[in-house]
Amino acid sequence: MSVSPLSMAIGVASSVVVCVIAWRLRALSVSGCAAGVAVGTIIMGMGGVAFAAPLVVFFVTSSAWSRWRRADRGADRGQARDASQVIANGGVAALIVLVAAAMPPEGRPTTRDWFLIYVGALAFANADTWATEVGSKLSRSARLITDWSKVGSGTSGGISLVGTLAALMGSAIVVLSAYAVWPIAATTLQWRMDLAEGLAVTWAGFMGSLADSLLGAAIQAQYGCSKCGRRCEEPEHCGMPARLVRGVRWFGNGAVNFAASIAAAAFAWYLLRAFAWPAY
Ligand SMILES: [Zn+2]
Repeated sequence: MSVSPLSMAIGVASSVVVCVIAWRLRALSVSGCAAGVAVGTIIMGMGGVAFAAPLVVFFVTSSAWSRWRRADRGADRGQARDASQVIANGGVAALIVLVAAAMPPEGRPTTRDWFLIYVGALAFANADTWATEVGSKLSRSARLITDWSKVGSGTSGGISLVGTLAALMGSAIVVLSAYAVWPIAATTLQWRMDLAEGLAVTWAGFMGSLADSLLGAAIQAQYGCSKCGRRCEEPEHCGMPARLVRGVRWFGNGAVNFAASIAAAAFAWYLLRAFAWPAY
């Protein structure tokens, strides 16, 4: 990785442009915009186009699906992603780039190895968002991944056939973009991703989304409103604190996402070492 004042300046400038557009389109809130600039600057400034391309694919396609899902809900426009959601989805990917940039250039893992693990983390982020957006729009109900009971679509921990297929496609498209960017990122990546690497990373992203559902069903906090009686994922409803119905109090949607993102990166590393790099 070649990190220089110029590359960081390009990172800041391109991230500001992308985030301001996203904010104007209401894909990001003001805090989400600030977090997006931080994540984007690290990834574009340190990783260059190779690392930035799959991030852009994740961000653009996920925002497009969210928009598509919201379209038939009319006035419901308060869905702009805030800082905690940006960190939950892109924080681990940015951390991987920071670690990769700090590593000595000799020996393994190389920048390219880190790149593939990074792609695994982003493939998960995309799989998870696609599954949530497409699954809750096209599926009426879902099954809880733990005890297979019926739940409303969009419930944390619920899975459906449509959502699962969307997760697999969301993961694959990020990996394909990482493959496609090679001609302009050849100096960073040394050689092109092969089929075994592509499959390993796609599968890691998909498995991350299953881990997300598992954590969502098993330990994510769920609250019940004491006024209207509705179930919710935030500790507040109808302007008053809600009571904890199940799960761990501080373990919200963002924490689940962050944990599953680490799981996806670790799983990518494991699959690559076990199946794609026989002579590691
Ligand atoms: Zn309420």
